[in-house]
Amino acid sequence: MIKKLNNTCMNEFDPDALDEVDAVKNIINSIKSLTKQEILPISKSLGRIVSKNIHSTLDIPSFKNSAMDGYAVNIKILRKNKHILVQKGTSLAGKPYDKKLKGNETVKVMTGSVIPDNCDAVIMKEMVDIKEGNIYFPKNIKKNQNIRKIGEDVKKKSTIIKKGEVISHSHLGILSSCGIRKIAVTVKPIVSFFSTGDELMSIDKQLKKGMIYDSNRYILRGLLEMLPVIIKDMGVVEDNEKSLIKKLKVCSKNSDMIITTGGVSVGDADYIKTALAKLGKIDFWKIAIKPGRPLAYGKINKSYFFGLPGNPVSAVVTFQLFVRAGINKLIGIKERKTINIKAITNDDLSKKKGRVEYKRGYLIQRNNENFVRSSGLQGSNILSSLTKANCYIRLEANISKVKKGDEVTVLPFDIVV
Ligand code: AMP
Ligand code: MG
Repeated sequence: MIKKLNNTCMNEFDPDALDEVDAVKNIINSIKSLTKQEILPISKSLGRIVSKNIHSTLDIPSFKNSAMDGYAVNIKILRKNKHILVQKGTSLAGKPYDKKLKGNETVKVMTGSVIPDNCDAVIMKEMVDIKEGNIYFPKNIKKNQNIRKIGEDVKKKSTIIKKGEVISHSHLGILSSCGIRKIAVTVKPIVSFFSTGDELMSIDKQLKKGMIYDSNRYILRGLLEMLPVIIKDMGVVEDNEKSLIKKLKVCSKNSDMIITTGGVSVGDADYIKTALAKLGKIDFWKIAIKPGRPLAYGKINKSYFFGLPGNPVSAVVTFQLFVRAGINKLIGIKERKTINIKAITNDDLSKKKGRVEYKRGYLIQRNNENFVRSSGLQGSNILSSLTKANCYIRLEANISKVKKGDEVTVLPFDIVV
């Protein structure tokens, strides 16, 4: 059951607050994945979501070849000739020598070149001695050494990419090595977003007293542009119910998802709740996390709706935890578990019991041990500490204090790009 927002954000322990895991589950269960697909050339498919399993049309490698620069031998022939052979030819990558080995023959081969059919080992060129046209081979040779077998990387007809996987640079490699030119991907959903607040000014205007520049729209753009979605920046709406309703109606005509920031708390100028009550099916959640307690989630016509808090860091964290899960479900990305690691904190960290807290941190590795420190002030309005962070430090709800030297859980932002 979804708990409603009907309280202030004063208490840390809030019996009405929803657990973050339950909130994600609610979101995922309520969103239907898009089924529309489009066919794209692979060169245009980076970051897109595969909409049906892709099978290999080839064995890779498709021919037996050498893993080394060296000499192709047949072990029986080698033994018969007391490990002394004569070079019969050369096989280069793209210029094969493909006759069988006979008599006392060996063939010089390069990495990736075709090897003779009856060759059953390749000996690195550094391992042989050459004297007066004779090649002297070492004794300890293993069958199939330095030979790349047909299909050892990919078997013909095997699944190379599964439905729901995100096309990466390595997928582009495997697709092209199979000679696959086009693939089916999920269409990009339309995600509209706008900021709410009378205090917000556009960055091309002179800043007036008491006003601030709208940063959330640029943050959301930054978060969304990394995803396979079409983004629509719908500007800023002032704090009044009528304007909000008007803008939401426009957005809901053609968006698969609408994201707003600001106005979801219980302040005098927070109109998201009343506007939405008139438009669609919306729940207001208090989620037991910090930053980012208030969150509105629901549906307006066919558009899924997320009302994020106005403080920039809260907007980022709630986007990463909740909106991202919703977008993943919408576009059919296979669920991926985030990777948590353990680190020793170099700072004392304080928090109140009652909410899970995501602190902005800076993680380093020294002598194979992970250390983390706070990246600066932790208020939900403090963007500078987010720009200096490379991880979140996740502190469980029931923790109140962490001492320098204690072990904490860390979520690195980027592991390998
Ligand atoms: P609200 O959630 O509307 O009560 O806003 C909470 C705080 O976030 C206030 O200090 C707002 O001025 C600030 N805020 C709201 N929207 C934005 C925005 N788009 N860019 C920067 N700060 C914002
Ligand atoms: Mg506001």
